[in-house]
Amino acid sequence: MRNAVPLDPPETIAYRLQDGATTLNLPIFRDEDNEHELIQCDLCGDFITLTATRHLSYFTSHRGREKCNKKVRRRNVAAEREAETSALQSTFSRAVPQLSGQQIGTPL
Ligand SMILES: [Zn+2]
Repeated sequence: MRNAVPLDPPETIAYRLQDGATTLNLPIFRDEDNEHELIQCDLCGDFITLTATRHLSYFTSHRGREKCNKKVRRRNVAAEREAETSALQSTFSRAVPQLSGQQIGTPL
């Protein structure tokens, strides 16, 4: 995971989608480790390096391609799994309220 921090003051870079009608304004981040400028993929959330001239060529070759789609799919699966887990946990704590009640405030 990169240490990406938004630029201060914030700056954005315009990216026109292939339909030609939609323009995304992507906030620019700074990689604290190597000072590279980054933008975050609006689809998968990955940070993509900008070129030295702030060109979006890396982003263009990433967005909606295989690597990006894979990441989006994986994230969706993880989110579903997380939702299942929290549903199970709330079922469990409802089933045994006396147990969770005893655990609260027990000194270690
Ligand atoms: Zn992506």
